Amino acid sequence: MATPTQSTQAAFTPLTGGCRCGNVRFRMEIAPIITHCCHCRLCQQATGAPFNAVAMIETRHLLVTDGKLSHFQGVKNHKRAHCADCGCVLWVHRQDLGDVLAFVGVGVFDQTDRLQPDAHYFIRSKHPWVTLPPDVPAFEELGDPGKAGVRERIVAALAVR
Ligand SMILES: [Zn+2]
Ligand SMILES: [Zn+2]
Repeated sequence: MATPTQSTQAAFTPLTGGCRCGNVRFRMEIAPIITHCCHCRLCQQATGAPFNAVAMIETRHLLVTDGKLSHFQGVKNHKRAHCADCGCVLWVHRQDLGDVLAFVGVGVFDQTDRLQPDAHYFIRSKHPWVTLPPDVPAFEELGDPGKAGVRERIVAALAVR
């Protein structure tokens, strides 16, 4: 069945990325479901950064091309996929969504110019000095930024859990 998602995937050039030491390398084969910045307190605490910029993708479209990922399930936290040698976190799995969806930190990609946020979430806890661009949808908590195919891809991914 043809979906809007599949038609937009045709022209996508895969993104590559890796950890700080270079031992783990991966390729993201298709465009992420959505790229967003989360300003929630959990993300702020988990990353130590004012917000967490991530690309959400079906985990099966992340191909580890070099090295081996290790996983760490913290208490009250997301499961982290990281390099055992340098500790760099490449992506996380949310407990409520499971391992079928991954949230890849946009900073670990080689092509840092290719992914731009489709939305900002949980801006109610945004650090006051962070200024958001006026043309990107921003929500107090969660919300629908109106990007095609988002709901369909999430539902399809969760269906195979
Ligand atoms: Zn490493
Ligand atoms: Zn968050």
